[in-house]
Amino acid sequence: MEFFPVFLDIKSKSCLVVGGGSVAARKVSLLRKAKGQVVVVSPQLCEEMQAWADKGEIEYLAREFEPADLDAKVMVIAATNVAAVNQQISELATARSLPVNVVDQPELCSFITPSMIDREPVQIAISTGGASPVLARQLRAKLESSIPGNYGRLAAIVEEYRDVVKERFANVELRRNFWESLLEGRFSELVLTGKEKAAHEELAKQLDEVSHQTEPKGEVYLVGAGPGDPDLLTFRALRLMQQADVVVYDRLVSKPILDMVRRDAEFIYAGKARADHAIPQEEINMLLARLAKQGKRVLRLKGGDPFIFGRGGEEIETLMEEGVAFQVVPGITAAAGCASYSGIPLTHRNYAQSVSFVTGHLKDGSTDLNWDMLAQPKQTVVFYMGLNGVKTICEQLIAHGRDANTPAALVEKGTTPEHKVHIGDLSTLPAMAESGDIKPPTLIIVGEVVELHEKLAWFEPSVSSN
Ligand code: SAH
Repeated sequence: MEFFPVFLDIKSKSCLVVGGGSVAARKVSLLRKAKGQVVVVSPQLCEEMQAWADKGEIEYLAREFEPADLDAKVMVIAATNVAAVNQQISELATARSLPVNVVDQPELCSFITPSMIDREPVQIAISTGGASPVLARQLRAKLESSIPGNYGRLAAIVEEYRDVVKERFANVELRRNFWESLLEGRFSELVLTGKEKAAHEELAKQLDEVSHQTEPKGEVYLVGAGPGDPDLLTFRALRLMQQADVVVYDRLVSKPILDMVRRDAEFIYAGKARADHAIPQEEINMLLARLAKQGKRVLRLKGGDPFIFGRGGEEIETLMEEGVAFQVVPGITAAAGCASYSGIPLTHRNYAQSVSFVTGHLKDGSTDLNWDMLAQPKQTVVFYMGLNGVKTICEQLIAHGRDANTPAALVEKGTTPEHKVHIGDLSTLPAMAESGDIKPPTLIIVGEVVELHEKLAWFEPSVSSN
């Protein structure tokens, strides 16, 4: 992060603007909106500012900048067209630790002003860290068009009722639940379409209805986070991620996805690397139930799909027994994600009529899989958790009749910026896997479809494989 985002309270505080042109005027206008006391220093003033000065809305000093102008100011904005003056202001301010902005010269700034969407009292500030003001403006245009003009009214009405609602609900969870369900429903619609009288009535009605509720109701969201690329999340996953009070997550959930969970949620790591079972499964099951019974919205976030080698079934069985409400959100499973991003269709009219998802976590090298079935031609077999068992897997498939030349792929960290595909066949895959520089999670795809990778590979991971 290049800059620390803040909203500054400058009400009745003295702010210096050096420069009297139209660029300076824009900054002055913003400072005045935030109720700052603006002092402008400049030999000349544009018409707009002259009018403000005449009305006494800004204090105007008709002369060149002097270092003493910085005294007793909370910030300074330099908007002159003289490079040396801008430079001098930046240096002097920096020496005094006074926040300074030099218009369009990021290297001279200690703060920059964001692109803004104004829905008073809601303010949305956008920054690209100085990388591209144009991009920030485009993003702003997009948001402008998707945030209704009356959005600010929504915030203003909510503010009116804050104390009443606070008094009605001593319990914080209940209070938050109330606001959330109110703001998701008819009330918001009414405000946004300008029917404020009806909106007030709706609020009063809702408040009346829920007031007798004494116990907060918790719920568990069992959510599939997909294989790694955050763009593969579902809309529902994202929505629930942003309203959870606590998140219980696995090792497989990627960092960029965790960053999208509501920031002030409590994060609990539930582990699950092969050798590191941070919390035993039974305890996870009970933990989810316990947290929900405390009235929390519990996000159980899992890699891929919760119902594919995710033990999601066991977790909701416990919730069912404990009488805890839950919902399940499917995710893109590793096989689908890895195959797509590797240009390997899992089925194909000429190569494979079926696909199996199989666990490759073979306890004691056990052979209790149906190898006869898996060794049949014209089908794709995908092994999850198979890196350690790859030798046994290939040997067994060959021993049960699958051709040793059957193409096979090892997909490493599929769909992430470190996505890598290693291509071989049943005879060469074990040596590849043992080469040592393959990192989990890894998926094994066996079948003629793997040949298509050469022709259909399209994804270019951002971390190069060299
Ligand atoms: N529920 C998950 C699977 C959990 S089992 C899903 O539906 O995808 C864990 C195994 O999934 C790993 O051992 C690995 O084989 C596979 N896996 C998960 N994410 C992966 C990824 N990004 N790349 C490759 N394999 C992955």
